[in-house]
Amino acid sequence: MSRPLSPTKKVISLKQAAKLARHYQQAGKVVGCVSGSFDLMTAMHFKSLEERSKKCDVYFILLNSDSSIRSYKGMAKPILHESERSYVLGQSPFVDHIVIFPELTPVALLEKLRPDIYFNVDGWGAECVEKAVVEKYGGKVMLFDFPEPEKWSKTTTELLARIASSEAIKVGKAIFLDRDGVINENKQGYLYRYEDITFMPHLLPTLKAFMKAEYKLIIVTNQSGIARGYYTEKQMHRLHGKMRAYFKEHQVAIDDIYFCPHGPAEACACRKPGIGMLLAAAREHNLNLSKSWLIGDSHTDIEAGRQANVNTVYIGNAATYPAQAVKPKHFVTNLKEAQKRILT
Ligand SMILES: [Mg+2]
Ligand SMILES: [Zn+2]
Repeated sequence: MSRPLSPTKKVISLKQAAKLARHYQQAGKVVGCVSGSFDLMTAMHFKSLEERSKKCDVYFILLNSDSSIRSYKGMAKPILHESERSYVLGQSPFVDHIVIFPELTPVALLEKLRPDIYFNVDGWGAECVEKAVVEKYGGKVMLFDFPEPEKWSKTTTELLARIASSEAIKVGKAIFLDRDGVINENKQGYLYRYEDITFMPHLLPTLKAFMKAEYKLIIVTNQSGIARGYYTEKQMHRLHGKMRAYFKEHQVAIDDIYFCPHGPAEACACRKPGIGMLLAAAREHNLNLSKSWLIGDSHTDIEAGRQANVNTVYIGNAATYPAQAVKPKHFVTNLKEAQKRILT
């Protein structure tokens, strides 16, 4: 199998192009040609090149130079320099030769190149300025429509609009907090009563600092005590309701709480080290996980974070951290330290 020609080799001068065109035509080949700016090419452009190439044996592209585009589209265009545009355009195996031209229209070039077929987009007018010159030497203008836009993506203008609206969507970041051992002390047994809860030292100032730094606060907690029958989901919600009320009293807003009610035997996707809760939060809160952090006191928290591309902080004793487990980004011994690691 032979390798395709490098795109840079496809760019030739008008003089070379005209010479080649005569050569092809004398050999009985049909020379096709199209002109355009081919800025930010989409699948639709490539598909269109493929379709047009079926009507001819050799396909020449007349590419507007940067100055030529600026003269009729204004200073904001093109987005890509002509060397970039010709390089991308040349990647299409259906493009044989490229001529970059500085004129406003390709009329003067067509008189020299004299392609058998000059393709033009229907709607830009059958009576285009090129028509007279092409028909004068005996060539023909062939009109075409772009392929179905829903199937072959968009024009460059539509692509730019899509980029602008995507930029306008505010993607957030979060601090994912394990509950037992991070929010409240990890006592013996399964906690479900607010009266039994002791909040961790420095909890409120740390959460406030995260809020100030524009992180969402999201608790992600395994609650297999539900599956084990130690308490009900309702009892857990009652506890969480009281926790939220306490935080609210202190001007801390928890954005969401995700919990897994399943036991280890159920093999669900949400129980950490599974990443189901993190992915659900990313989707529902529109988060960039790679800019988010997870604070946990178990290696399974850290594993979940790492699997979901979330930065991780382990609260606990680094010396007793399981040797085989994936390591957190930072080992800390308390929340204040975690805050310092994340916010600096
Ligand atoms: Mg924990
Ligand atoms: Zn689960």
